[in-house]
Amino acid sequence: MILEKLTSKQRKDYYEKVARIGCILCQKLGYETTDCGCELHHVRTGNIPRKNAPVIPLCAYHHRLGNSSVHQLGHKGFEKYWGFSEMDLLERLNDLLQEKS
Ligand SMILES: [Zn+2]
Ligand SMILES: [Zn+2]
Repeated sequence: MILEKLTSKQRKDYYEKVARIGCILCQKLGYETTDCGCELHHVRTGNIPRKNAPVIPLCAYHHRLGNSSVHQLGHKGFEKYWGFSEMDLLERLNDLLQEKS
């Protein structure tokens, strides 16, 4: 998804659609997910400004609260801890979005 090219309305719809997927990490781990309280995490790659960075849905725990969350571990730490990266989760998200559309 190229966020840069979206109008603000399209962007809002896209973010809502992403949030409805529920925590992508919980799903990968095989946990039950709820679609409420999901937060969007910006996956920073290269020089893309934060506002146009791709997003992945994460529960508050996996986003920033838990010891194993992306913000506690940081980019590299996250990959080391889980054995997959934020980019892998982004890819999975894109698969899920495609299945639903
Ligand atoms: Zn989670
Ligand atoms: Zn974040």
